[in-house]
Amino acid sequence: MTSQATRILSRASAKRPANTTSASPAKKQRWVYAFGDLPLVIRRVGSWDAVKGLLGGKGANLAEMTRLSLPVPPGFVLTTEACNAFLKNGSQFPDGMWEEALRSLKHLEKKTGLRLGDPQRPLLVSCRSGAKFSMPGMMDTVLDIGLDDAVADGLVRSTGDERFVFDAYRRLVQMYGSVVLGIQSERFEALLQGARVRSGVASDSDLPASELRGLVRSFKDEVFRVTKKPFPEAAIDQLRGAVMAVFSSWNGKRAIDYRNASGIPHDLGTAVNIVKMVYGNLGERSGTGVATTRNVTDGEDEPEGDFLMRAQGEDVVSGTRRTRPIAELREEMPRIHAQLVRHMKRLEKHYRDVQDVEFTIENGELWMLQTRDAKRTARAAVRIAVDLADARRITRPEAVARVTPEHIETFLHPQLEEKSKRAAIDKGLLLAKGLNVSPGAAIGRIAFDADTAERMSKAGADPVVLVRAETRPDDVHGMLASAGTVTTRGGRTSHAALVARQFGKPAVVGCQDLVIDAEHKRMQTASGRVLCEGDWLSLDGSTGEVFAGKLATFVPDVQDPYLTKLLSWADAIRRLEVWANADYGRDAQRAREFGAQGIGLCRTEHMFFETDRLPVVQRLILAKTDGERREALDKLLPMQRADFAKLFEVMNGLPVTIRLLDPPLHEFLPDRDTLAAEVTDLRARLRLHDGDPAQVQATLHDKEGMLQSVDALREQNPMLGRRGVRLGIHMPELVRMQVRAIVEAACEAVRKKQRVSPKVMIPLTAISTELEMERAVLEDEARLVMEELGIRVKVQFGTMIEVPRAALVADRIARHAEFFSFGTNDLTQTTFGISRDDAETGFLVEYLQKGILKTNPFATLDVSGVGSLMRICVDRGRATREGLHIGICGEHGGDPKSIAFCHEIGLDYVSCSPFRVPVARLAAAHAAMGGKVDQR
Ligand code: ADP
Ligand code: MG
Ligand code: MG
Repeated sequence: MTSQATRILSRASAKRPANTTSASPAKKQRWVYAFGDLPLVIRRVGSWDAVKGLLGGKGANLAEMTRLSLPVPPGFVLTTEACNAFLKNGSQFPDGMWEEALRSLKHLEKKTGLRLGDPQRPLLVSCRSGAKFSMPGMMDTVLDIGLDDAVADGLVRSTGDERFVFDAYRRLVQMYGSVVLGIQSERFEALLQGARVRSGVASDSDLPASELRGLVRSFKDEVFRVTKKPFPEAAIDQLRGAVMAVFSSWNGKRAIDYRNASGIPHDLGTAVNIVKMVYGNLGERSGTGVATTRNVTDGEDEPEGDFLMRAQGEDVVSGTRRTRPIAELREEMPRIHAQLVRHMKRLEKHYRDVQDVEFTIENGELWMLQTRDAKRTARAAVRIAVDLADARRITRPEAVARVTPEHIETFLHPQLEEKSKRAAIDKGLLLAKGLNVSPGAAIGRIAFDADTAERMSKAGADPVVLVRAETRPDDVHGMLASAGTVTTRGGRTSHAALVARQFGKPAVVGCQDLVIDAEHKRMQTASGRVLCEGDWLSLDGSTGEVFAGKLATFVPDVQDPYLTKLLSWADAIRRLEVWANADYGRDAQRAREFGAQGIGLCRTEHMFFETDRLPVVQRLILAKTDGERREALDKLLPMQRADFAKLFEVMNGLPVTIRLLDPPLHEFLPDRDTLAAEVTDLRARLRLHDGDPAQVQATLHDKEGMLQSVDALREQNPMLGRRGVRLGIHMPELVRMQVRAIVEAACEAVRKKQRVSPKVMIPLTAISTELEMERAVLEDEARLVMEELGIRVKVQFGTMIEVPRAALVADRIARHAEFFSFGTNDLTQTTFGISRDDAETGFLVEYLQKGILKTNPFATLDVSGVGSLMRICVDRGRATREGLHIGICGEHGGDPKSIAFCHEIGLDYVSCSPFRVPVARLAAAHAAMGGKVDQR
């Protein structure tokens, strides 16, 4: 529970008379609460979280703002329970619900002195959906309910503003028509467009009253034409229809899609808020806007937002009119601006987080219509968390909890390279500049609609960029399938911007210079350049630039001061150490910059594959005599020594775990089929006297020899063949050379007064005896080197745990190992008996789709299977050797869920790729906090 909720609760219980504390007898289900009923609701359901569950986020926050005495128009809430009962009942209101709603309406009428449907003093209301979690644009809202011809005329008389009245009226018919009656909104848009053209105006707000009056008529005709029924004139019927439509929209396709994409449960239901209308479109001193208490793109502590004068509802976010920045409100209406800023500060302080508010000004009076925790970019999330903690609004652990591993990941996403950008600008490839609403670079082929985007991204190897005039909820799947989104309309708070931010996808919106011709799948820039579907596009969501072509990207510096600070707080919380997998000095360097505390895996085979080394490695493998083998090893030794010396230098005393050669030898030899083809080809050339016979003969001889060796080394199942420790047992000279290189490099470092901590890691052990033997050989070599050089260094010997048997006999293996490291890639393959490559390119997707597997076990640890083996291994290993040092070096070491498991079973460290080190540092802190990660 938030401390704020605790405060409310204690206040609520303080008010409660002592004699009513015992449970009252079988409470009647209550479906409707007024905003003012909040203390009662809290008393009933207990926590703030439950309040949001019952009243929805919007309703709960409207009630809370009412309690804080902020100017909220009065209203009431039909609960999510009512919605669920309605949906369960086959779209029938549950018993008593509508009567309760009518009673609440009566109270509202009494409070406002207005009446629904009364032409003299008409009450208009909005009917707004609001689920527990905000689902921007997903659910539907109807404004201006309560207007009919008589009420409209009455309202014209009382306000003297005919334009306002018929603007509201046409909105009602339009919204009711599309939301409740399911008429395509394009029909209404077309009629509006016609009216604008006839009157020669660009904006709806400039339409004259007579035109609006005509629109109401033609909108109603449209309703009749499509539904064969007149538009409901009775205000109460409008209200009833709207409530039913909002309830039903919970199970609309786009709502379901959104919930699936965001992991929101489907059984929460939505509440409905009935709120007295306040008129942002009434006269010159009215307007409406949205704002966030801080900048949610970069996190700067400066309110940000958009507003429009003479506007209502969604005008600001729909991108139909050019909005004005909130700073201009200060000049336009200084008093209102000051009030708004004051309310926003208050809300941010109260909710202890950045808020996103909706407000409306009616005739110079400010009304607050919504507040919620603001969505933000990853960059803003980090900075805001740090700033709030520094200002002591939240604690440091809270700040750490508020940043998610995904945030950090996005933070480290690639961006467009400055040089590449400048070159593109010089070449005239800068197509447009829009609003930078969600940072990061996206490069992909253009798709002009969501379905095409999804299809292209599924079909092709190339990423896709979705380009739309504006996005709507039914475009979300296309946005998710794309690397990024560009829209030509809309502002910072438009649907595209919100969704992109939510999912961490780069986006640029409001590129007014681009004109899309969706029908012909192309678009044109201001300068007349035309781009078609499938053309490459690069966008920079951090600057708002959109380029033609494929620009170069870079990954930003992690030395961002806010990120550095936040991660240092995470470091103070976590117990797990975070190491990195790094093969070369430069990787190790990067790993250290990212905060790695050691190297958990250096794969020596990568060094063997380098072009200058591969031929030597091949000579080693193909050697016929000891002499030949020796010669090859002598060549490799200094190369390996130099590799390790570099790692030791960079890591400066931090542990460096070097894995001895692991893959089967044939991997270092040429591909058999290619070789066989070459041999056939050479034989043919010899027969046809093509080329110098002596030379061809010599090449043929070489290739035939190679082919023979490849055949000799061929295995039925190389993955389960002579590899890992078995390779070392088979070719002791090879692993001796590697250990010699390690120890020589370490001794050399000691001589140079460097600190070193080398760890020799033997791969793929399954039998304790093989480890025992291998280790004896390696230790012997290490001793020899130290004697030769007259220097002693501490070298540890340990093993990877990569097959189930090793985990099961860990007690015996631990006798010969000073440390364990879980190689969870192989351990997952061998536990499942599934080859990763075959799974990921083949049946894995089917398994995921059919729900046989919930997640890809090669990405997120299979806790129940592989995890059980790991638990057993840890227990048995430490039973033999108390405090045995154990880590993980599979890819899972960088996956937040897997890290939480590693924490739980008591590992000492996780090791992951350098780029994931910051993610792992945060995830390890979250794990230490009990996995209670704030879901914002
Ligand atoms: P959403 O969840 O899509 O933001 P809302 O229910 O918040 O939907 O409403 C849509 C728009 O209508 C918002 O801009 C909101 O501020 C405005 N609105 C809602 N109720 C009222 C009201 N009673 N008076 C004036 N404007 C309203
Ligand atoms: Mg909306
Ligand atoms: Mg809203």
